[in-house]
Amino acid sequence: MALKVYNTLTRKKQEFKPIKEGYVGMYSCGPTVYNYAHIGNLRTYIFNDFLKKSLEFLGYKVNHVMNITDVDDKTIKGSQKEKVSLEEFTKKYERIFFNDLNALNIKKPNHIIHATESITDMVNLIKKLIKKGYAYKAEDGIYFSIDKFKNYGKLANLKKNNSLKERIKNDEYDKENMRDFALWKFYTKEDGNVYWDTEIGKGRPGWHIECSAMSMKILGESFDIHTGAVDLIFPHHTNEIAQSEAATGKLFVKYWLHGGFLTMKEGKMSKSLGNVVYLANIEKKGFYPLDYRYMCLTAHYRSPLIFTIENLESARNSYQRLKNIISEIRDDKKTNKNSLEEFKKAIEDDLNIPKALQVLWSLVRDEKAQGKYQTIRKMDEVLGLKLLEKETIIVPAEIYALVNERENARKNKNWKLADELREKVNELGYQINDTENGAEVKKK
Ligand SMILES: [Zn+2]
Repeated sequence: MALKVYNTLTRKKQEFKPIKEGYVGMYSCGPTVYNYAHIGNLRTYIFNDFLKKSLEFLGYKVNHVMNITDVDDKTIKGSQKEKVSLEEFTKKYERIFFNDLNALNIKKPNHIIHATESITDMVNLIKKLIKKGYAYKAEDGIYFSIDKFKNYGKLANLKKNNSLKERIKNDEYDKENMRDFALWKFYTKEDGNVYWDTEIGKGRPGWHIECSAMSMKILGESFDIHTGAVDLIFPHHTNEIAQSEAATGKLFVKYWLHGGFLTMKEGKMSKSLGNVVYLANIEKKGFYPLDYRYMCLTAHYRSPLIFTIENLESARNSYQRLKNIISEIRDDKKTNKNSLEEFKKAIEDDLNIPKALQVLWSLVRDEKAQGKYQTIRKMDEVLGLKLLEKETIIVPAEIYALVNERENARKNKNWKLADELREKVNELGYQINDTENGAEVKKK
């Protein structure tokens, strides 16, 4: 069997055939660093990680690129509110974002590109679009004329359901044509000191052009996989395709993979409903970040997943039980080929991770099976649950929560509270060592 993936572009499960044999160019839309990423956002990054690790497991060499949106309306507004420079503001949230990824055992992409470092690439792309007649200058910026691009909306299936016009009416830009979107926004006073003086005018890029320019900069004009959450299909990814394909005349991306939402019982996680959950919130309740990772494994990446504390508790119980059983398994230096083959089959079927997890459980529970240890090690290269590491079960979750609380106190320069928490951890029989990568905790 070969790997099959569900491609949003064709709405089918398709055999995966990369442009260059054995090699995969993969781009994931990264965070806009104006706030903490909530656990719904983090589910998408966990999905990216499964995808990347699955491809590597299947023998591909993956070049994974992710952007950081460090200039847009939200980041500018946020930095002005906090009265700090845009850079200081965005760097703070970028650091927190990567701490969260690290805690969830998500491998860092091979390339992390910042929008503010790629302005020249964006300007060059816009110049190309103007030259080819796809972009035009309006009073407040440079716009993409979607009427000129024949296949506009194919990714989102927009023409068929005729909702194109209505959806874009919500767009707040001033434009010649209701359906056009901004590539470059001319400077206004609200932007403060955030602008670039360029050949196409003083201003800043629109969000969509950022991803087109940054992905093609590293991966070339055509590449294999582009990922994101389902809400990015329109308009973001639709606009990325239009900009890129209009400029190059080539297919931009072969396979578009989209991750499903994490929802709350009452529906979407949103600030206005006051139901947003961050990783730090669940850690404070005594959960490990990897409990959450395990929870994400239990649903297919394209399915919606409902978040409740009960679901998380049940994921934690399964995860801890799994780790406890595995901690008793000895290495007989063999591999269980049948089990590994079944695991591979599950992965190849559009990353059926819940199925792969079942295969792992059957192996773990099979008293007569051989080669358990080495097979688990191999499976964990995809699952990323640190199944053979014992530390995470030696330190109880309550202690881990205290250590995190202390880390936060240190970040806020509340040294007194930090010392008290260290003392408390000490009294409970654990020792904190501060390292370059943050605090490490061990049993005394
Ligand atoms: Zn993007």
